[in-house]
Amino acid sequence: MKAFAYVNATNEKDAVAALKTDGIARMKDYIDTPDRVVNVKNALDATIARTPDGGVKIGAATKIIDLYENQIVARMYPAITAAAIEIGTPQIRHQGTVGGNVNQRPRCWYFRNEEFVCYKKGGSRCFAVNGENQYHAIFGNDGPSHIVHPSSLAVPFVAYGARFRVVGPKGEREVPASDFFTMPTLANVLKENVLDDEELLTHVILPSPGNIRSGHYEVRYKASHDWPLAFCTVIAIMNGNTVTTARVVLGAVAPVPWRSRPAEAALAGKPLNEDTAAAAGEAAVSEAKPMSGNAYKIQIARTAVKRAVMRAAGLRTV
Ligand SMILES: Cc1cc2nc3c(=O)[nH]c(=O)nc-3n(C[C@H](O)[C@H](O)[C@H](O)COP(=O)(O)OP(=O)(O)OC[C@H]3O[C@@H](n4cnc5c(N)ncnc54)[C@H](O)[C@@H]3O)c2cc1C
Ligand code: SF4
Repeated sequence: MKAFAYVNATNEKDAVAALKTDGIARMKDYIDTPDRVVNVKNALDATIARTPDGGVKIGAATKIIDLYENQIVARMYPAITAAAIEIGTPQIRHQGTVGGNVNQRPRCWYFRNEEFVCYKKGGSRCFAVNGENQYHAIFGNDGPSHIVHPSSLAVPFVAYGARFRVVGPKGEREVPASDFFTMPTLANVLKENVLDDEELLTHVILPSPGNIRSGHYEVRYKASHDWPLAFCTVIAIMNGNTVTTARVVLGAVAPVPWRSRPAEAALAGKPLNEDTAAAAGEAAVSEAKPMSGNAYKIQIARTAVKRAVMRAAGLRTV
């Protein structure tokens, strides 16, 4: 690894001023060779607090394990707790932060290999199209990149209607989580979100959940030390036993946390039960456009949605 200068910023302002940062994992893979690394973890809030409007504010430097163990989050936003405990390994959950998890770069093996200069590294092709694409997207596959977004926390954050507070040289702004992640175009393919180079995510702000039921379900090859193949968070806003509106967000299937409008339409006006769960799963995959080697993920996504709805209904899943 190339030698680099290290800056340990202790507040948001200094961190933004020092920014031109890159992740260590990509340095080890020789994807990035920065001259300077800025530690933002000591500059950002690491607390979880209630907001005056009945929601919760999570500092970006909060460790994943602290998010998992927080009883307020567990009570108000159980799908976030369910996602947090599935991430990586105990070591990763004790070191990784909410901000780092949401902003982690793609896991595509071509992106992670210095030999492959694809669109996301300034090249002019996507190697996954005619290559090994078994872990790539099955939705939003118009290109130019076919990654799946790697963040487990991003999915429940979008489903619960979170807003992200961002600071940069021009001050601060708030972005709905649903607008934070970007579908790839030739113009923006080098990034996965709306952050400018010198901006930082400082907080995830969750609204008061209201009268909702929620469910989260992940499918993985391995119980630990890996990313999911497909997963889903379902939020159902209830009127008695009937779903008024639902938000169905899938992970590991598209370049962004993928909101499934067909699945949401399948749940609206219906009770939560195994039949409506199956219908939502069917509707969710109606828009799938798999690549040459990943059609198997369609059934996994269908099952993830069905079981997330069943969990929201309080039903047992396998
Ligand atoms: C074996 C393994 C399995 C894993 N499994 C999963 C999984 O199942 N689900 C999952 O979601 N993740 C998984 N991960 C990824 C892991 O959760 C992330 O690597 C971790 O959360 C990163 O956190 P960090 O704080 O160390 O971020 P860093 O590695 O320090 O940063 C990650 C990226 O985010 C940027 N960044 C960090 N903080 C901010 C901020 N506040 N604002 C803007 N940009 C920022 C950095 O510049 C960098 O590009 C896995 C990782 C490994 C190694
Ligand atoms: S999927 Fe994206 S990151 Fe992977 S090779 Fe194609 S352009 Fe690169």
